[in-house]
Amino acid sequence: MQRKIMDKISASTNPVILQSEGLLKYILETSVYPREAETLKELRNATANHPLGFMGTSPDAGQLMALLLKLLNAKKTIEVGVFTGYSLLLTALSIPYNGKITAVDPDRKAYEIGLPFIKKAGVLHKIDYIESPALPVLDKLLDDPANEGTFDFAFVDADKNNYWNYHERLIKLVKISGIVAYDNTLWGGTVALPEMVVSETKREWRRCTLDFNEAISKDPRMELAFVSIGDGLTICRRIC
Ligand code: SAH
Ligand code: CA
Repeated sequence: MQRKIMDKISASTNPVILQSEGLLKYILETSVYPREAETLKELRNATANHPLGFMGTSPDAGQLMALLLKLLNAKKTIEVGVFTGYSLLLTALSIPYNGKITAVDPDRKAYEIGLPFIKKAGVLHKIDYIESPALPVLDKLLDDPANEGTFDFAFVDADKNNYWNYHERLIKLVKISGIVAYDNTLWGGTVALPEMVVSETKREWRRCTLDFNEAISKDPRMELAFVSIGDGLTICRRIC
């Protein structure tokens, strides 16, 4: 029994939680792909053959993010974990012409794969890309108290062992009623499996994800929705 579960988990490189491929295909083909911006589609295709291409934000989760950004009328955002830029381009397309995104990732090479599509979409002027691990960048922003409570939206999609560290900083940087969204909070479904059936490569970040999910569920400073889309998206709204 456990062997079967393990085979299923390790065989799956697709970090999508909806286990019915048919349903996911239906959702994507009915209302995601037909509405996806051409430049986003091109960026997604350019990433498809990257060995880490599965890390790109799933387009259905992206569509939800775009809707949130519009609902919030977000102008000033932060992104932690850019990779080739799917969620970054999506954000840039969803905020106004004078909107600004502070985007942080140490892997500039990956960003350069998406850059031509960001330029083509005419939104590069909205992006302040910082090639760095995110923690020192967030700390530097907080060194200036004028930055506190000024961001409308933050998206975290990076090293899972630092999610709580990001949370403690982002909760100060986003304004009250602002949103912080955390990706991969179901970590390939492993959060609901016993550790022994989870492949060793996934164990450490599974443990971090479990700790983060537990801590955030108890955080009285936020309202939240734990959404089973993509690989799990936890959407938090700062309330105090
Ligand atoms: N949001 C992206 C996917 C991000 S994948 C998309 O839609 O395509 C995770 C990214 O986190 C990788 O590019 C990795 O370089 C980045 N990352 C890893 N450690 C990081 C850190 N300490 N700070 C910021 N980014 C980090
Ligand atoms: Ca992700």
